Amino acid sequence: MSIGRVVVLTGPSGVGKGTLLKAILSQHPEAFLSISATTRSPRPGEVDGQHYYFLSREEFQTKIAEQEFLEWAEFAGNLYGTPRSPVIEQVNLGRTVILEIELEGARQVRKTLPSARQVMLLPPSVEELERRIRERATEDEAAIARRLLQAQTEIGAAKEFDRCAINDQLDTAITALEAAIFS
Ligand code: 5GP
Repeated sequence: MSIGRVVVLTGPSGVGKGTLLKAILSQHPEAFLSISATTRSPRPGEVDGQHYYFLSREEFQTKIAEQEFLEWAEFAGNLYGTPRSPVIEQVNLGRTVILEIELEGARQVRKTLPSARQVMLLPPSVEELERRIRERATEDEAAIARRLLQAQTEIGAAKEFDRCAINDQLDTAITALEAAIFS
């Protein structure tokens, strides 16, 4: 069996990574989406062990000390990290492992796993991104402001990535992101 590979997918909060990935993964059983750990509280409908592993800051810090993360970063006041062992297991099974992570994590993976493909998903405009974050209505005003500021930084880093796709119309965006990840 051939060895798999790792694909990093980065894009500003609210750009629609989750929606597009769900559609793409249903067509690609060979792909595996890494489940991250976070200290953020679950949003309505989010399930522990399915969307994220929800940890206390203390639990997260223990895992950092035990080097259990392939990468980790602080984002908008919360810690997020990729558990290392499932990634290694799934790559060894020949699967395409997708890490849906923010910019600092993507930069770490660029150093530790330079062969990983790095993909960025962009919004059609910053105004449209703000509209989507507000429509989701899961964050307070201060958190929205932090996420928008961070979004500008992430968009500005697009040229660091191997491939970019724009989430404009749903079906064209799915095709563009699928090509960026798999082709
Ligand atoms: P959210 O709170 O909206 O679920 O995620 C906030 C940001 O954290 C998103 O940009 C998401 O891609 C990123 N993120 C999720 N999991 C990880 C992870 O394991 N590591 C890093 N570095 N970022 C992550």
